[in-house]
Amino acid sequence: MFPDYTFCRERFKKYGLELSENAYEKLKIYCDFLIEYNNCVNLTAITDPVEILYKHFIDSILLAEHGEISGDISLIDVGTGAGFPSVPLKIFLPGIKITLLDSINKRIEFLKKLCNKLEIEAEFIHGRAEDISQMTEYREKFDVSCARAVANLSVLSELCIPFVSVGGRFIAMKGPSEDISAAASAIEKLGGIVSRETNYSLENENRRIIQIKKISHTPTKYPRNSSQIKKKSL
Ligand code: SAM
Repeated sequence: MFPDYTFCRERFKKYGLELSENAYEKLKIYCDFLIEYNNCVNLTAITDPVEILYKHFIDSILLAEHGEISGDISLIDVGTGAGFPSVPLKIFLPGIKITLLDSINKRIEFLKKLCNKLEIEAEFIHGRAEDISQMTEYREKFDVSCARAVANLSVLSELCIPFVSVGGRFIAMKGPSEDISAAASAIEKLGGIVSRETNYSLENENRRIIQIKKISHTPTKYPRNSSQIKKKSL
């Protein structure tokens, strides 16, 4: 069972976050539906409600502070899976516009049902990031792209930077061991520059958020197709 409001509010407070009753109700519906749907479609390995609270919900919402997200920005969540980080973020910051992208259609179908239940507006895209970002309607159209637990920073940069308009940002949610220097050449070729790195801890686990600012257009030859990306990083 999802913990009660008082418990959740105290946990949020520990991270400097204010949890409204309305947001709590939505997170509760999210958690129950995630656990139920996970019985037939593989969405998450985390099934304990308290762990879902920390490892999925609070972790996602901390992106608001550590990734400096606010207002009415447009955000594309690349490889969103069961909606992390963008759906909890949207519950917390209702003004942002979210686009949920994943290559597995069963996950996109789950997200459509979830957002309907939560009365949340979102755009849903089923496809591979490397194909979708070559489409004019999505290329360099977002203020921010983000990704959590999808690939290493070099690959992620190729998947995520093409979506961002010049002046926007790509934000990667990573563990402490990520080697930024290994992705430096890829980031530069794609038109980005590392602008900020934030380290923090979530229940004694170290986390890192890397912000990449887009300073010039991504050359049209990027992203490459998936087999080229797999073969050799930029
Ligand atoms: N971001 C979620 C999270 O943090 O819980 C899901 C992480 S899951 C490990 C990685 C997700 O990325 C999967 O749902 C997978 O289908 C998706 N994915 C991997 N490569 C992708 C690509 N090239 N384009 C779109 N989605 C991709």
